[in-house]
Amino acid sequence: MKTAKVREPERRPLPPSEHARKAVLARWESVKEEREEWLRPFYQLPINSAMAYLEDLRKICEDASRIMNQRIGDNKLAMRCAGPHCGIDLSGTNPNGRPKWIAKKDVRDPNHPEIIHSLYFCCELHHNEYVRMSQGSMGTTGQ
Ligand SMILES: [Zn+2]
Repeated sequence: MKTAKVREPERRPLPPSEHARKAVLARWESVKEEREEWLRPFYQLPINSAMAYLEDLRKICEDASRIMNQRIGDNKLAMRCAGPHCGIDLSGTNPNGRPKWIAKKDVRDPNHPEIIHSLYFCCELHHNEYVRMSQGSMGTTGQ
């Protein structure tokens, strides 16, 4: 009988960046897959301890929000005019050193209210267009 040797797939060490990326994704997966484990302390710890655990998790979420706000704010690629039909690049400054945008509006992310997105506008016309459009879609009561 012929025994086919199964060759082990070659195991090359991952480059450091790839290794770090996989570790980060594994951390995220663990939160999704081990949801019950993350929740178990809320059922099983004495209430005082469970409250302290809740506080620890809340601090992580607060730090995460701060980090994400920082990253979103640093993303100069997002500095485009938010006028409904514009989108002109507003990163950088004019020759006189002033910013290219004339108005800035901070709006909360609808799914993550702790995250703030800054919107920039190239001119008053586009700012007004945006305000009119967003008031319409936000369903004002008309009172
Ligand atoms: Zn514009």
